[in-house]
Amino acid sequence: MTKISETSYKNINFCIRCGKKLVIETDRENKLRPRCESCGWIYYKNPIPAVACVIFNKKNELLIIKRKVEPKSGEWALPSGYMEIYQNPQQTAIAEMQEETGLIGEVDQFLDFYFGYSPIYERIISFGFLMRIIGGELCAGDDAAEACFVPLDKLPEIAFDAHKHYINLAKNLAAD
Ligand SMILES: [Zn+2]
Repeated sequence: MTKISETSYKNINFCIRCGKKLVIETDRENKLRPRCESCGWIYYKNPIPAVACVIFNKKNELLIIKRKVEPKSGEWALPSGYMEIYQNPQQTAIAEMQEETGLIGEVDQFLDFYFGYSPIYERIISFGFLMRIIGGELCAGDDAAEACFVPLDKLPEIAFDAHKHYINLAKNLAAD
C-alpha cells in the first residue's frame, strides 16, 4: 500500500475556498494533509467513485462501448462514469447506461466493487452493476463513439481491470 506523503500533494497549492496558500501539516490522526493557514480548510485526497454497467441482451451478448474520451480513448469498455455528488451508485449506473447506449435500464444486482489505479485520479473505487434493459433504442452517445452487443467469446480487449472483473463475475453468474 502506498502511504500518503508530501509527493501525494504535488500541485495542490491553494485553498479552493479562499485562494490562500496551503501548508502540509500532520492532522490529529498523524496523517499529512494540506491545510489552509487562512481559513482552516483541509484538502482530503480520496479515491474517486465510479460505476460500470454489465448489460446483456436476450442472446446473452454483452454491451460494450468504444470510449471517446480519456482515459483509454478509442478502447472498448463497459458503459461507465464517475459519480456526481447527488447521485447514488444505482442512479449513476442508470444514467450512464442511458447516456452512453440509449437504453433505459434498472439495476438487476450489485456485482462487486473494485479499488484500482487511475491514470488521472491515481485511485478510483468503482461499483459494478448487472443491469436489466427495460426500454430505449441502442444508440451510442455522450462519451461513447460506438455501442454494440458482442458474444462473450468474441470480446475485444477491455480497457479497465475493474470492467474485466465485473465481466468475469457476470459470466460466472450466467454459467450457474
Ligand atoms: Zn482558505
